[in-house]
Amino acid sequence: MAATPLYKVQELRIYNSITGQKEVFTPITEGNIGMYVCGPTVYSNVHLGNCRTFISFDLIYRYLKHLDYKIRYVRNITDAGHLENDADEGEDKVSKKARLEQLEPMEIVQRYTLDFHNILAKFNNIPPSIEPTATGHIVEQIEIIKTIIGNGFAYEANGSVYFDVKKFNETNNYGKLSGRNLEDMIANTRELAAQSDKKNAQDFALWKKAEPEHIMRWPSPWSDGFPGWHLECTVMSTKYLGEQFDIHGGGMDLKFPHHECEIAQGEAACGKTPVNYWMHANMLTLNGKKMSKSTGNIISPAEIFSGDNTVLGKAFSPTVARFFMLQAHYRSILDFSNDALEASEKGFYKLMDAIQALDMVSINKKTEGFDAINWTKECYQAMNDDFNSPILIAKLFEAVKFINTVKEEKASLSKVDHELIKKTMHDFVFDVLGLVNENEASSDISDKLSGTVELLINLRAEARANKDFATSDKIRDELLAIGIQLKDGREGTSFSLN
Ligand code: AMP
Ligand code: ZN
Repeated sequence: MAATPLYKVQELRIYNSITGQKEVFTPITEGNIGMYVCGPTVYSNVHLGNCRTFISFDLIYRYLKHLDYKIRYVRNITDAGHLENDADEGEDKVSKKARLEQLEPMEIVQRYTLDFHNILAKFNNIPPSIEPTATGHIVEQIEIIKTIIGNGFAYEANGSVYFDVKKFNETNNYGKLSGRNLEDMIANTRELAAQSDKKNAQDFALWKKAEPEHIMRWPSPWSDGFPGWHLECTVMSTKYLGEQFDIHGGGMDLKFPHHECEIAQGEAACGKTPVNYWMHANMLTLNGKKMSKSTGNIISPAEIFSGDNTVLGKAFSPTVARFFMLQAHYRSILDFSNDALEASEKGFYKLMDAIQALDMVSINKKTEGFDAINWTKECYQAMNDDFNSPILIAKLFEAVKFINTVKEEKASLSKVDHELIKKTMHDFVFDVLGLVNENEASSDISDKLSGTVELLINLRAEARANKDFATSDKIRDELLAIGIQLKDGREGTSFSLN
């Protein structure tokens, strides 16, 4: 008999940004989840703030998987259509970088997509199931614009197409996600610039006619141009997850206008609201201010790993940085500091030491001083309560304390409880929090490296015995070239790393 999936016994509650409440999570199709998260605009290296949002959703993805849901996770790459200042005017962020660096826009896209993947892999994020690009979905974007025009919610002006927010608000509710009211928005805006083609300042571009110097352009029924920034997410989420899907996530700063516009586009095109649960991850700050590329108030992941930034006292590993972020709830603001990172590092190694100690403690007939069943239940309760990782981590440290007393032989642990604690620890620390035991990983690599060099030393000895000096010299010289020096002595050959 197949085991009961965990989602049947765990009741997960998610804070839904659109209702402002924690709600019991019920997917559209039992056992299956469709989740869309807005990905990066690939015109620069990711900063640690961006990483926090993607780590928050990695935690969420991992816990949903742990609950045995079958989940399709779609996260896009914005490679066109995102203009400077997140507005409808100005240069495309990717094209601008291409112009400044005298490269093709697609070279910029490739460079920063690779950087993004590389950094997220260092943080042990699991890649999404599908990672679609805006430029790969131009045809679908043109189609949906035709539908929205056909439904009366968009108009063409001078080769561009705009979403008619006022018209939409007559039958729908523009502002329901961000809690804004269209009348107030209109009252608070200055007059439209005379050259604007928009009927209302709140209208947003679905398609923009390209100026002659704009290089990222495609033919369409309205003009040679490019899609508006908000449209790609509507198109790619509904293409891969359906007109209505379970979870849509992104950073808090995307709530308005980006996600508000996605709701409007989805409703205008399909007559249904696209998303059941909206999830927003909070910001990483530095010196109390949002980390942001545009203000330069940033720390890069590379600086964390090398320690090469004046705010850092030393280098920190990716796992320690990940652990630091998970010690805050995803909906709380987290301020970055060297002290906080040092405290996380201490905590992280304490946790790893306790997990290692679990393999060495002595087992008794019964457990005293710890209720392992209830503790496991509380670990689940923490995550079921809107993915509360700081509470989970506090629970894990209750077990760390107990393991350490067992180690000192001041408490006893039964075989059954030992197995339960070990399983719960492994499930939450490695599968759900996605931490990596770096002690183990590095000693594993050095064991394998020594084995490989020993093998080469033996092959070289064989070659010399056969008077094949070409091969034996080649092995010695090429190892030296990568920093491994062989030393022939009376006891045989040894090696050292230069
Ligand atoms: P962008 O590439 O600017 O579109 O941003 C990619 C993602 O990073 C979005 O989901 C943003 O909300 C998120 N983000 C940007 N700055 C921060 C920050 N300081 N803290 C957390 N997330 C951020
Ligand atoms: Zn988006």
